[in-house]
Amino acid sequence: MAEQIKTQSAHWGDKAVDLLLQQRGEGPFLIASGISPSGRIHVGNLREVLTADIMYRILKERGHEAKLIFVADDYDALRKVYPFLDPAVYEKYVGCPLSEIPAPDGSDLTYAEYFLQPFVKSLKKLKIDAHVVRASELYRDGVLKKQIIQALNARDEIAEILTRITGKEIGEDWSPFNPHCRLCGNMKTTKLVKWHPETEEITYYCSHCDKERTVPVVGNGKLTWRADWPARWAALGVDVEPFGKDHGGKGGSYDTGKEIVRKIYGGVEPFPIIYEWIRLKGLGDMSSSKGNVVSVDEVLEVVPPDVLRYFITRPAPKASLALDLVTQLLNLVDEVDDESKKQRDARSVELSQAGGFVPLHIPFNHLVNVWQVAGGDFEKVKKILTRTGFKYSDEAALLERCHYADEWLKRYATPEFIFQLLDETPAEIVPLISDEEKKALSLIADELEKNPEADGNAIHQIIYNIANSTGVSMGNLCKALYRVTLGRDRGPRAGWFVAMAGNDQIASRIRKFLAK
Ligand SMILES: [Zn+2]
Repeated sequence: MAEQIKTQSAHWGDKAVDLLLQQRGEGPFLIASGISPSGRIHVGNLREVLTADIMYRILKERGHEAKLIFVADDYDALRKVYPFLDPAVYEKYVGCPLSEIPAPDGSDLTYAEYFLQPFVKSLKKLKIDAHVVRASELYRDGVLKKQIIQALNARDEIAEILTRITGKEIGEDWSPFNPHCRLCGNMKTTKLVKWHPETEEITYYCSHCDKERTVPVVGNGKLTWRADWPARWAALGVDVEPFGKDHGGKGGSYDTGKEIVRKIYGGVEPFPIIYEWIRLKGLGDMSSSKGNVVSVDEVLEVVPPDVLRYFITRPAPKASLALDLVTQLLNLVDEVDDESKKQRDARSVELSQAGGFVPLHIPFNHLVNVWQVAGGDFEKVKKILTRTGFKYSDEAALLERCHYADEWLKRYATPEFIFQLLDETPAEIVPLISDEEKKALSLIADELEKNPEADGNAIHQIIYNIANSTGVSMGNLCKALYRVTLGRDRGPRAGWFVAMAGNDQIASRIRKFLAK
């Protein structure tokens, strides 16, 4: 069996590294990823960083020198007032860099840091050892100065490349450099008037301030995206970079970047890895501006870091991927936890290690049920697990997993997963139980009292036999049992549910109900 698994097709990461080494030699390699912190950084964005991290991990594993960086595009301008922003506050900041406008919560953080910092924390939890590089600092510190000068000197050549490759006409007044007006803070109300190569200054006009000014090129603006991305490749020496399919299409910014980096900056484009967007099941592609996002820190409240890594690491970057926060999350925990799961991909699990994951071999769905039967009491959880035949060696890991179960129930569980063992049957339920059902329930109570040690299987058989002998259908009998103990029509599989709750507990609840 192990042999069979080994001969299955290799992990996409291993194949990509093979190809990289074939094409680019032995390294060292700089692997870059990047995100614009314009809103909550979501699980979809994580595909970019994790794809880079997988390349990084495999290169290190094979003994190559590699470095992973995460470039935060915090010098990008706020494009519009997003639905989650207060227009009264943000209207005036449209066009200003994210690194220089206030955070939505009114704190001392900048807008960019407000969204960036929780993500950077999540990266640590996910054991993604990326050096965070801020675009605002690259520009402020003059790291891209050489490329800015090259781009301004080669304005016409870049315009020709863009027109030829994208098929779009470029206006006479187009410039690869966007001046940043330091008087009003805007970079969208400005136009480059003249580039002075001898003094390395620019003259720009700001329509907001209605002023023309001459300022040093460093610290007063940025390259436009299609000139900026290849400038970064050249200045930092990026060897590998994953990017979304929007950049990877024909005429996309990778296509134009390839030519610009070679002809204008004298560099080489990185080895590309194009990835598909992550959708949110039933809600389409995740997008901060659409608001249908689940942030990375949110998911990390519900599943261990290894599980979130595994979700994204397992399919190839080009495969479509939809996040389902209900059943899929439950299954993913088990795939990572239990090596006997059929769908499990061992190499992906290996590449998903974030440190600290302890396999428990308790199905997550079972734990979710046990947690509810126990009413959130950890001591009871332990007793129920022992009674239902589950062994655990690491109590701290079990407690942690219980917290994940609890958060999952609070955040994402749909009503059919949620229940509460009641002390008393609700008054409105009482008239719903027929006399035949009462008789059958009483027989169940007798059997449970006689067989206090009966397990889920045995109890299922008991219920089944009583249903047969009394002529009440199995479905109706289970429904009656759920109604009496949970106050609702459905619950976890009846025999196993009784075993979880405790045979004596269920018997006494039935008795209490019948005595009414
Ligand atoms: Zn201005």
